[in-house]
Amino acid sequence: MVDSATQVTPRRVAVVGGGLAGLAAAHRLHELAVREGQPCEVVVFEAGERPGGIVGTQLISGYRIELGADSFITNKPWAIDLCRRLGIEDRLIPTEARFRRSLVLRNGKPVPVPEGFQLLAPVSVGTVLRSPIFSWPGKLRLACEYFVPKGRSDGDESLASFVRRRLGREALERLVQPLVGGIYTSDPEKLSLRATMPRFIEMEQAHGSLIRALRWQARAGRNEDATASGARYGLFTTPREGIAELADALARKVFAGAQLRCETEVHKLSRAAEERGFVLDHAAGTNDAFDAVVLAVPAYRAARLIEGFASPAAGLLDRIEYASTAIVVSGHKLADVAHPLDAFGLVVPAIEKRRILAVSFTSRKFPDRAPDGCVQLRTFVGGAMQPELMQLSDDEITALVRQELESILGVTWKPDFAIVARWMRSMPQYHVGHIDLVASIERELAGITGLALAGSAYHGVGIPDAIHSGECAAESVFLGGGEPGT
Ligand SMILES: Cc1cc2nc3c(=O)[nH]c(=O)nc-3n(C[C@H](O)[C@H](O)[C@H](O)COP(=O)(O)OP(=O)(O)OC[C@H]3O[C@@H](n4cnc5c(N)ncnc54)[C@H](O)[C@@H]3O)c2cc1C
Repeated sequence: MVDSATQVTPRRVAVVGGGLAGLAAAHRLHELAVREGQPCEVVVFEAGERPGGIVGTQLISGYRIELGADSFITNKPWAIDLCRRLGIEDRLIPTEARFRRSLVLRNGKPVPVPEGFQLLAPVSVGTVLRSPIFSWPGKLRLACEYFVPKGRSDGDESLASFVRRRLGREALERLVQPLVGGIYTSDPEKLSLRATMPRFIEMEQAHGSLIRALRWQARAGRNEDATASGARYGLFTTPREGIAELADALARKVFAGAQLRCETEVHKLSRAAEERGFVLDHAAGTNDAFDAVVLAVPAYRAARLIEGFASPAAGLLDRIEYASTAIVVSGHKLADVAHPLDAFGLVVPAIEKRRILAVSFTSRKFPDRAPDGCVQLRTFVGGAMQPELMQLSDDEITALVRQELESILGVTWKPDFAIVARWMRSMPQYHVGHIDLVASIERELAGITGLALAGSAYHGVGIPDAIHSGECAAESVFLGGGEPGT
């Protein structure tokens, strides 16, 4: 971390990457410059045609579709706080309460996730006992969670190991793997519980049992969404006109206080003479000098940029793996779908051996995302568990999604539209040891004053985390502070 006593306010700062993390960093730099009365020139370099990164809101045939992220969670405050500062908080809409539940595939048929089952554990054992998802031995094993002794509090453990230990193999294979896979598209045998869902470790340590902890939270009124199943959907929101509204509001503010250069990929970062700042080579020029740099790009891209002067840190950054996914977004007449779609979506366990990971019933979550009498579906393919499907052409991916939707939901394939969005190496994988790996990266970079990392690779994968990482990076290079460490 930079020593604040010796830090000199930078006059010129480069932000590399114009996704939400980079835009949030530039916006925060502008806020800080105004607050401190210190002029600071900020230049955002974005390789793509437009700012926003993994954001793709479009209007097609009366549907408002999202090709990338579609909503964000509100119990992490940073995205909401930013919306407030951007003046768009009153544009945020909640999810539709009527369909706030998830389905899971069981022997080819969608069945409801038991009410109150929240990613890893149920609020009540009764709902599990009534559910057709588990066999009787599976149900009994799950109910025994009450009596499983707590594990060690130190060290890291994979999601799969934790869930098998506490709830049994069936709970992992039938429910937890697909529910968590829907968020992280990860292999649960590798996913770090501590880095992704530390609250379940805290529950185990504090209450000795997840079920006991969730029941206690529900009784104490601390569980904001105790009856919802799957993700805690009551906690999600999105701007009325889609996630692009947030990216656009942010980009407008950034434009007002900084330069935003799209289609300007940065190729190389070097230290300036006597290690006073940095020099960038980018698509629009070479030897562009800056006092400080925020790298808001995926970890493997940050590695390439710094390897010339920080090769140990670059080597560590390369160890953060990424998964790719494709989303087929399609619009249908409700009359063409046999299933009532009375939920927010469907998750598909790996043991069902299908070729899709999940289907989000987007216009059940946010009804204005489809015209009356129609539904918008977003079907996820690939991820860390089925990377080979990313080799298929768009037509082949659409064909396999068509087959799966016909067979699982009774969709007659006469879509109003169908689009494939590919997100290559876009989902950082928080494997066991992730927290230590990130701490090592931060230690390696701590001696390089004026350089900070931001983005979803380090301290959380969602939109609020990405925004927070950008704001912390801005504070780190401007003031020499800013948790969490990057
Ligand atoms: C398919 C998908 C769905 C998701 N859904 C949700 C969701 O519903 N809710 C949620 O909270 N989160 C979701 N996420 C996660 C969320 O989208 C990310 O946390 C967030 O968008 C990351 O922002 P970022 O700025 O860190 O990265 P990015 O958006 O990846 O931005 C990085 C930017 O850097 C640019 N860049 C890269 N290299 C260079 C270079 N050398 N020079 C200049 N520019 C460069 C890229 O072009 C890109 O624009 C989803 C992620 C994916 C992949």
